[in-house]
Amino acid sequence: MSATGAGGGAATSRHDTSGLEPAHENALLSVRNLKKYFPVRKGLLSRIVAHVKAVDDVTFRVGAGETLGLVGESGCGKTTAGRAALRLIEPSSGLVSFEGRDVLAARGADLRRLRRHMQIIFQDPYASLNPRMSVADIVGEGLKVHRLVSSRAELESRVGELLERVRLDPSFVNRYPHEFSGGQRQRIGIARALSLSPKFIVCDEAVSALDVSIQAQIINLLMDLRDELGLSYLFIAHDLSVVQHISDRVAVMYLGKIVERARTDQLFADPRHPYTQALLSAVPKADPKRRTERIVLQGDVPSPMNPPPGCAFHTRCPAVLDVCRVEAPPLRDAGGGHTYSCHLDT
Ligand code: SF4
Repeated sequence: MSATGAGGGAATSRHDTSGLEPAHENALLSVRNLKKYFPVRKGLLSRIVAHVKAVDDVTFRVGAGETLGLVGESGCGKTTAGRAALRLIEPSSGLVSFEGRDVLAARGADLRRLRRHMQIIFQDPYASLNPRMSVADIVGEGLKVHRLVSSRAELESRVGELLERVRLDPSFVNRYPHEFSGGQRQRIGIARALSLSPKFIVCDEAVSALDVSIQAQIINLLMDLRDELGLSYLFIAHDLSVVQHISDRVAVMYLGKIVERARTDQLFADPRHPYTQALLSAVPKADPKRRTERIVLQGDVPSPMNPPPGCAFHTRCPAVLDVCRVEAPPLRDAGGGHTYSCHLDT
């Protein structure tokens, strides 16, 4: 590896930290230069003394029928990025468009219409379902809010159809969340997300709380639904092995920024960024020839309130150079849509 050699990714720009991401024009969802800074207040007057840069200049797109995996350790900003793209939290700045419409400028009825097409599945199937509501009321809440059903019988019938879609017995409509296993609860969460016939779903660590065997079932279900309904996903996970099968492309986040992105096959065959290499080294490989030594990263992710200067990964990077401590890394283009931010030309 060298810092300047010509064998790997050509450096593109030292100023664009959001990641080379062409062809936004035809994207279903287009997110550009998204930032979400949370103010830190202190003292009697509650003055702003700092900002937590949870998402710091992130750009990505998701095409129709496509799944983008968004991966990184806990606290890297991936969940905030997903929620800001849906405007469940207001971004500090940036552009978000859905089918060419400006999501951040939408108000009132326009925003409600946009939201019908953009849904979310949450991580914890135990916490995300109200224990006092029946399955019919949980899954059918959106149908009632948008006045898409006119009677209880119609509501239960529609919810029964949605339960069948997620491979649950439609007779479960009048049961309560405590009567279900974790995997079944997550299916109920998926049925709720499908209730308004969305085009795009953020799957926010949607399988992380489940056993490995159940994870595979839910991922298979999500893939089937994508094919049956033409859905697009932003699939957020901290584990690369979880996103491997479902994602067409993967973006890797560290401390609020995307540090590498590529088609899934490219990323798994030829990871360029040392952080991606470390994450990938933890993924179990069935083929003994492809097994590599595990790279164990030292220390915790630094605080996004006070990210390290230069390359934010330099405090943990096994390949750190002197320049990494003072200068932000250039964005390198490895070809075929594969880009990464690093001083090393790998
Ligand atoms: Fe690349 Fe950052 Fe590691 Fe330097 S510290 S080699 S820029 S990842």
